[in-house]
Amino acid sequence: MNREPLESLMEKDQSPSASSPTGDPWLLTPGPLTTSPAVKQAMLHDYGSRDRYFVQVNDHIRKRLVDLVGGEPNHVCIPLQGSGTFVVEAMLVSFVPRDGKILLLINGAYGQRMARICEYHNRSFEIDEYPENQPVDAAVLDQRLKSDPAITHVGVVYCETTSGIQNPIQELSVIARRHGRGFLIDAMSAFGALPLEAKEINFDAVVASSNKCLEGSPGIGFCITPRDVIEHARGHSDTLVLDLYDQWQAMEGNGQWRFTPPTHAILALAQALDELDAEGGVAGRSQRYRQNCDLLTRGMREMGFQTLLPDAIQAPIIVTFHMPADPNFYFDRFYDALRHEGYVIYPGKLTVADSFRIGCIGRIDVEQINGALAAVRTTLDKMGVSNCGPA
Ligand SMILES: *Cc1c(COP(=O)(O)O)cnc(C)c1O
Repeated sequence: MNREPLESLMEKDQSPSASSPTGDPWLLTPGPLTTSPAVKQAMLHDYGSRDRYFVQVNDHIRKRLVDLVGGEPNHVCIPLQGSGTFVVEAMLVSFVPRDGKILLLINGAYGQRMARICEYHNRSFEIDEYPENQPVDAAVLDQRLKSDPAITHVGVVYCETTSGIQNPIQELSVIARRHGRGFLIDAMSAFGALPLEAKEINFDAVVASSNKCLEGSPGIGFCITPRDVIEHARGHSDTLVLDLYDQWQAMEGNGQWRFTPPTHAILALAQALDELDAEGGVAGRSQRYRQNCDLLTRGMREMGFQTLLPDAIQAPIIVTFHMPADPNFYFDRFYDALRHEGYVIYPGKLTVADSFRIGCIGRIDVEQINGALAAVRTTLDKMGVSNCGPA
């Protein structure tokens, strides 16, 4: 069979009007995201998994990720191959014992996904569920833990990327700790941009990935956990590849991954972490994302769009807008036109309302947000949309 070469596929894809230095459109999405030229450049090397330099880079990354939460000397970082969901699943199966029970605080699709994972692995779970535009409630957590002593762990998403809402993880962690329960955080879309200090947030495990606010390439998830917690996680996992205890033991032993490491992604992450430092760490990155978010929100509101969330509970990560009710507005055409102009946005994932999302994260700043806003304006004119408000 004669397949077309890759190049011909690329030619069919019209190159965008505005574009990143590599000619790709800007990704205003929840990840993968636009990475810097130096992050892409860092991947142009082939290292063997036992190469001394590679082992050093790997070790270096693990330490720096622990530093990002101020976790020295009590915490360790356990990286894992795969997308973010792999490490969420690894966290649940490695920390919740087979006879344990987890209470999942849910206000979006990623919280739902944790419940799904528990079903697959036969882990007992309870849920405390909220609408997608409402943060989870610390007072309810307190009640639930008081009334059910069988609950061993609490699981929550820091920034629920479904809507962009920020959950009060600090308050929640205090309550979980007061009741002596383990606290597990999916910080996928928060890590590196929202505050997460081990001294302030008492967690058993935090998981995140390389390709969101850390601005690396996709391919690596990681878990940060106190040493005495992972030491007690032996034998919990019912899967070999997702066993974080085993992964940790092996890596502490010889500095190597159990199975083929994503070498290129690790080199990219090392560069991405340098860039995070250069930007002033979490505080600096947070400030740029906040600027992006404020500009985006203001500009879209000026055109008549409405955000799902009030500003007080909106994380500066991704913003959900209600779909305009104007009969001339077609999301697919809107999406394609913006893509043509060089900006990739994201469909909505809400169950409560028809919506779409625009991300504020990745190697983008006010120049790209202004460009995207201009592209939105042009597109609305072309479509003949005059009313951007929801039904
Ligand atoms: C992105 C994300 C994940 C993981 O998604 P993958 O597609 O597997 O990388 C998990 N939780 C949250 C909150 C996320 O934003």
